[in-house]
Amino acid sequence: MILFKKAADINNWLLKSKAAGKKIGFIPTMGALHRGHTSLIDASKHAGSISVCSIFVNPAQFNDAKDFDNYPTTIEKDIDALEKAGCDVLFLPSVSEIYPAGTGNAKTYDLGYLETVLEGKYRPGHFQGVCLVVHRLLTIVPADDLYLGQKDYQQCMVIKKLVELEKLITTIHICPTLRETSGLAMSSRNMRLTAEAREQALKIFESLSYLKNNIKPGDLTGLKQTAVNLLTNAGFKVDYVEIATAGDLDIINHWDGNRKLLAVAAAFLGDVRLIDNMLL
Ligand code: AMP
Repeated sequence: MILFKKAADINNWLLKSKAAGKKIGFIPTMGALHRGHTSLIDASKHAGSISVCSIFVNPAQFNDAKDFDNYPTTIEKDIDALEKAGCDVLFLPSVSEIYPAGTGNAKTYDLGYLETVLEGKYRPGHFQGVCLVVHRLLTIVPADDLYLGQKDYQQCMVIKKLVELEKLITTIHICPTLRETSGLAMSSRNMRLTAEAREQALKIFESLSYLKNNIKPGDLTGLKQTAVNLLTNAGFKVDYVEIATAGDLDIINHWDGNRKLLAVAAAFLGDVRLIDNMLL
């Protein structure tokens, strides 16, 4: 695996590879890698692309300074995991390499409704920061294909919108959420949980599964409240447990039995905020 730290260096190298007829698959991450991340590398490798992973804990997308300070970093282990996964290129930039002019005068992206619901509502500014970094990364890494995890469903929709708004040529591939055998969605933030808290964290999966197993056409308010109670009674501070349309994240309280739906949840265990979702 080749490691680049400078934007100009990786950009030159990748442009040469592209000129030689290679396709570039890109997997942006914030590190503290787990099998969910390496499954994205697998998908890119499967397509026969040069697989580029970036590790950059993007300060612009943290609406909570403590969350940023506490974000796990395990760079030696990450490099090892990427080598084992057969990743071709790692981009490991500094903040000044990504934001040479800072973020004070950063452009804003018109994300419309997407920025007003769920993660958009509970993490103000978060998706602007996501767009800023992904846009910048895609100017450095001329990716044909971008591999994203369904675990961050709304983020996938935001990045699709970014690609549309900026008329980028990258194709987005959304890969399934990898879970522990218990059902807990793999997440870098799980590293901050004690063994006991990991057991508790399972309740998120259980509450989404409850929605999946019990949804019926008609009023959904009682069902949603039971799912919230499941988490509250397990010691979570719940931001939301919601049912939304899978296509446009329209939050619904009544189901016609036809529209394709998604259950989504975000909740704190102590100061660790976990999110998950499940297609119903
Ligand atoms: P992150 O490092 O959390 O910013 O995630 C980097 C990429 O990995 C994003 O596209 C995530 O959606 C994806 N990802 C994170 N967790 C999982 C998971 N459990 N399964 C599949 N993809 C994931």
